[in-house]
Amino acid sequence: MIDFEVPEESRLLVDTVKRFIEKELAPLEQKVEDSGTVDPDLVRDLRRKSCELGLFAMTYPRDVGGGGLGTIDSCLVEEQCGWTSDALVRRAFGAIPGPIIHCQGEQRERYLLPAVRGEIDVGLGMTEPAAGSDAAAIRTTAKRDGKDWIINGTKHFITDGDFVDTVIISAVTDPEKGTKGISTFFVDKGTPGFRVARVQHMMGMRGVNHAELSLEDVRVGPEQLLGEEGAGLSQMLSFVNAYRLGGVGARAVGMASRVLALATDYARQRKQFGKPIGEFQMIQEKLADMVTDIFGVRMMVLNTAWEIDQGRDPREKVSMVKFHASEMLGRVVDRGVQIFGGMGYTKEFIMERLYRDARVLRIYDGTTEIHKMVIARSLMKNGVPAL
Ligand SMILES: Cc1cc2nc3c(=O)[nH]c(=O)nc-3n(C[C@H](O)[C@H](O)[C@H](O)COP(=O)(O)OP(=O)(O)OC[C@H]3O[C@@H](n4cnc5c(N)ncnc54)[C@H](O)[C@@H]3O)c2cc1C
Repeated sequence: MIDFEVPEESRLLVDTVKRFIEKELAPLEQKVEDSGTVDPDLVRDLRRKSCELGLFAMTYPRDVGGGGLGTIDSCLVEEQCGWTSDALVRRAFGAIPGPIIHCQGEQRERYLLPAVRGEIDVGLGMTEPAAGSDAAAIRTTAKRDGKDWIINGTKHFITDGDFVDTVIISAVTDPEKGTKGISTFFVDKGTPGFRVARVQHMMGMRGVNHAELSLEDVRVGPEQLLGEEGAGLSQMLSFVNAYRLGGVGARAVGMASRVLALATDYARQRKQFGKPIGEFQMIQEKLADMVTDIFGVRMMVLNTAWEIDQGRDPREKVSMVKFHASEMLGRVVDRGVQIFGGMGYTKEFIMERLYRDARVLRIYDGTTEIHKMVIARSLMKNGVPAL
C-alpha cells in the first residue's frame, strides 16, 4: 500500500514553521519590500527566536548542529516558506550554501559550525559575466604563490554578496584539466583586493542585494581552499539536487498556493454584473487550472523527495521538478494577476509583488532551457527513466 499520510511529527514541524511565518515574518513583508532591506537588529531577533524553536539551519545534518531534516520534511517546510518573502526566510532560517559541508579540520570551526549556528553568513560565488549556464567557463583564476593562492576575477549576481561574511568563490586552478581544474575558496569580507564592485538591482525578491564582486590579487592561505583541489565544480553540483527540489520546487508550490488562496478569496468577494466574479466560467476555469497545476507539481516534488530519502539519485526528476515547478508558478501567478484585474497590477496590493518575485525561479539554479536539455539528453542516452 502507498501511504500519502503526512506523519504526525512532520505535521507538528510544519505547523510550527507556519505559525512562525504568520506571526514573525509575514507582518514584516511590506516593510522589507519598501526599504529593500531587513534591519540588522531584526535579523538578530528573528534568528534568536528561530534558534530557540530549532528552526535555524533545519535541513543541515545533526552532527554539525543542524536540524537533520530528511528531504520530504525539508520540502514540506519549504512549501511553508513560499508563503512569505525570500529575504525574511533567509534571515530567519538561514541560507547556507551546501558545499560548505566539505569543510575540513579548522575550517569546520571557522566557517561551518558558526554558519549553522547563525553567527556568520556565507555566500556562493560561481556566476560570472561571461559564465552563467556554462559554469565551467569561468575566467576567475587562483594561482599558487608559495603556499598561498592569488585569486583574480569578477563574479556577478551573487545573492547577499554585500551582506555575507565570506563567499565561496569558484576559480580555475588548473586550466589543463577542464572541469576538474576548478577549485573553491573561502574569501572573507575585508580581504585586501576583494570588494563589492556594485549592487545589481533586480526585478523582485527585494530585501537582499545581488552584487558584482571584484577580486584583484586576493591572497588566501591554503586553509581557505574548500575540499579537494580540482573538485570545486563537482562539490558545488553535488548539492544542487536538494536545493532545486526544496528551494525551488517546493517553494514554488508554496508561493503558488498563496496566490491561489488570495485569488479564490477575491473571486468570492469581488462582484461585477451583480454577482461574484467567481461565478463566471472564465474565472472558474482559471481557478481550476491553478489548483490542478499546483497539485501536479506538489506530487512531483514529494515523489522525488521520497526517492532521495531512499538513497537514490533521481537527477532527471529533479530537473523535471525544477523547470516544471517554476513554469507552473509563472502560469499560476499570471492568472492570479488577471483575476484581480487592475488591483493585480497596482503596487497597493501584494499580487504585483508576487508576480515579480515569481519570475526569477525560471532563471536561477539552472534555467528552464538547461534543465530541459539535461532531461532530453538523458532520454536520448538512457531511454525513458522509471517514473
Ligand atoms: C536573483 C538571482 C540570484 C542569483 N544568485 C546567484 C548566486 O548567489 N551565486 C551565483 O553564483 N549565481 C547566482 N545567480 C546567477 C544564476 O545562477 C544565473 O543567472 C543562471 O545560471 C543563468 O546564467 P546567465 O544569467 O548568465 O544566463 P545565460 O547562461 O547567459 O543564458 C541566457 C539564455 O540562454 C539560454 N541558454 C544558455 N545556454 C543554453 C543552451 N545550451 N541551450 C539552450 N538555451 C541556453 C538560457 O536558458 C537563457 O535563457 C543569480 C541570478 C539571479 C537572477
